[in-house]
Amino acid sequence: VSFAFAILTSCSNPDEGKSTKSQKDSRVDSLLALMTLEEKIGQLNQYSLGSEFTGSSNKNGQDSVRYQQLISGQVGSVLNLLGAEDTRKMQELVVEKSRLGIPLLFAYDVIHGYQTMFPVPLAESSSWNLELMQKTAQAAGAEAAASGLHWTFAPMIDVTVDARWGRVMEGAGEDPYLQAEIAKARINGFQGEDLAHNKSIAATAKHFAGYGYAESGKDYNSVNINQYILHNHILPPFKAAVEANAASFMNAFNDINAVPATANEYLLQDILRDKWNYDGVVVSDWNSIGELVNHGVSPDLKDAAKKAIMAGSEIDMEATAYVQFLAELINEGEIEEAKIDIAVRNVLQLKFDLGLFDDPYKYSDLDREKEIVGNQIHHDLAEKIAKESIVLLKNDKNLLPLKNIKNIAVIGPLAKDKDTPLGNWRAQAIENSAVSLYEGLENVLPKSTNLKYAQGVELSVGPNNFFQEQEINKEDRSGFEKAKNLAKNSDLVIMALGETAYMSGEGRSRADIGLPGLQKELLKEIHAINPNIILVLMNGRPLELSWEDENIPAIVEAWHLGQRAGTAIAETLIGKNNSSGKLTMSFPRHVGQLPIYYNHKVTGRPSTAPGQVFYSHHTDVDNSPLYPFGYGLSYSSFEYGEIELSDNSMTESGSIEASVSVKNTSDMDGQEVVQLYIQDLVAEETPMVKSLKAFKKIMIKSGQSVEVKFTIEKDMLSYYKSNGEISLEKGGFKVFIGKNSAVNNHKEFVLK
Ligand code: BGC
Repeated sequence: VSFAFAILTSCSNPDEGKSTKSQKDSRVDSLLALMTLEEKIGQLNQYSLGSEFTGSSNKNGQDSVRYQQLISGQVGSVLNLLGAEDTRKMQELVVEKSRLGIPLLFAYDVIHGYQTMFPVPLAESSSWNLELMQKTAQAAGAEAAASGLHWTFAPMIDVTVDARWGRVMEGAGEDPYLQAEIAKARINGFQGEDLAHNKSIAATAKHFAGYGYAESGKDYNSVNINQYILHNHILPPFKAAVEANAASFMNAFNDINAVPATANEYLLQDILRDKWNYDGVVVSDWNSIGELVNHGVSPDLKDAAKKAIMAGSEIDMEATAYVQFLAELINEGEIEEAKIDIAVRNVLQLKFDLGLFDDPYKYSDLDREKEIVGNQIHHDLAEKIAKESIVLLKNDKNLLPLKNIKNIAVIGPLAKDKDTPLGNWRAQAIENSAVSLYEGLENVLPKSTNLKYAQGVELSVGPNNFFQEQEINKEDRSGFEKAKNLAKNSDLVIMALGETAYMSGEGRSRADIGLPGLQKELLKEIHAINPNIILVLMNGRPLELSWEDENIPAIVEAWHLGQRAGTAIAETLIGKNNSSGKLTMSFPRHVGQLPIYYNHKVTGRPSTAPGQVFYSHHTDVDNSPLYPFGYGLSYSSFEYGEIELSDNSMTESGSIEASVSVKNTSDMDGQEVVQLYIQDLVAEETPMVKSLKAFKKIMIKSGQSVEVKFTIEKDMLSYYKSNGEISLEKGGFKVFIGKNSAVNNHKEFVLK
């Protein structure tokens, strides 16, 4: 038993076993009082370590500086070490060898599953099913926890409006309200009711803030937004994360108002701590403290350390700035030790909250790891949410659901791909373990169907992994002929095209967001031979699909759907699953429209009157997106009635009930996402054309009509002014209720 443990067990804990985040544990101060300055700074130091210190084969690591730091309490948390066995061994090293034996935190990017892969977050968000998203986060957390992890760097809750940015796959799209609702669901899922439970893990709200607005969608680029966008689009999901008790926040790489987020006092102090009273811990992004030098605001790493700690970045991920320079800065009187104490308290508190001082090994459990990681229940859950995440973009000629078709050609580089559906950020996923589309079809189609396959084209050449850029095949057409022959002799062609797992994600921005490589060329050639095509898309971002939309009769957006992708898609194609997903990012007609999002501002020239030139538009592309936010078809058809309002005016303390009848006029039961948008007609600061304020996903049986009711309250009518103050202004509003953001069905009312 280490020194710290002995002391701590003799201190009384007022909230025995369940210290909530708002009540700081008195044991934190008892422990802090025992710590040297070096030990305190150690808690703020985070390294990425593998099994070099714990693996049986490798003893070399033990001579390294990092090993010495580890066993002398100069490392507080570790990222990237996985598995119950290795985490346990490393924890033992630290608890037994360091003077105070303060347990480590083990962190990892558990983004959409640990070993069981769920759909990528953008895909999951298309389900609009908060309950299921909470469950997948919970399952991912349970797997990770059994493997010794305490902390995930998720969810990413950056609002994203530019599909060129590769990381759009990691979040929930363009709408701040939906992003906030999903943030809460995911945080609750990861963290569970009690952090001390070893079946859940601490969550991270990232990247604070503005990372999703990287200029021209280029990852790590500068962010140039105004205060209105910051307060109304970017910050609301983060505020929701505070309300959901997210254990930690992560800095963004970018600058905002010309100050890098990692050194940004306005964000970290004024907003996060002072305005929102956040009491969790703030971790830098990977070397983002070091990047203050690259950003040109610090001459050297020492100055970067000072700027970051002063602003409120508490854990230094991999920059080694704190461990090298904080003590020096204190000795020179440049910063006060009290500043360090605040940060250390937050780190220690998280360790207490996770129960690590009661039992530092309780997460690393070999038996539980075997039982939980990748189990059937989680795979079933992955299939369930995959089915709800698919978005039917087009279904002309009623090609879908498939009926009694004899000869089907399955063509495309992703048709038999068992890896791509696992998506980017895959933690411990087993390579090539997804059910491919082809396997899914084989399983669900009657044996009498004649199913044939041709790859047609290779999508990328060279290595397919997180660390290397994809080399896209732009030359090899050798597979075209076989695919064309197959198409000629088939009644129907199912084409599986899109992006491999690593064409979206961190560092994977693209200037051209059409189908990469030779895929479109192949599609066009097949189309010339047999236009009866169902296009199944697997991708991590909205694509530019104007030609496809004009020419291909049926288009299914199947994203990177995870473990059972093929099953989910195949069951949707045959109609065993009725599609119910709706887009959470607009799909552009042309890449030149980007950034494109439905909740943009009203301009001084909004008119679309025919023949008029001087209004806000491109002369060569329609103003609308190809597929708007909230859009998605179903095999059922839903008819919306007129909106009924309980009153045409309300006061601040009152409310209005808005209702609409939605009828399923088809012969198939189906789920519909009913969406409510509000437009502020006149405001002190230029308002948005409309904003999502509520939604309901409901099952409506064939022939049934359902009355869907929403309560409009003052919170739905306010906005943030550029100074960050909330503003509720009297006057007229429009309420829209419909099936997507292009809805025009509306009523007006007044706030008195
Ligand atoms: C990413 C973060 C991630 C971190 C640790 C960074 O490059 O931006 O989102 O959590 O790496 O892997």
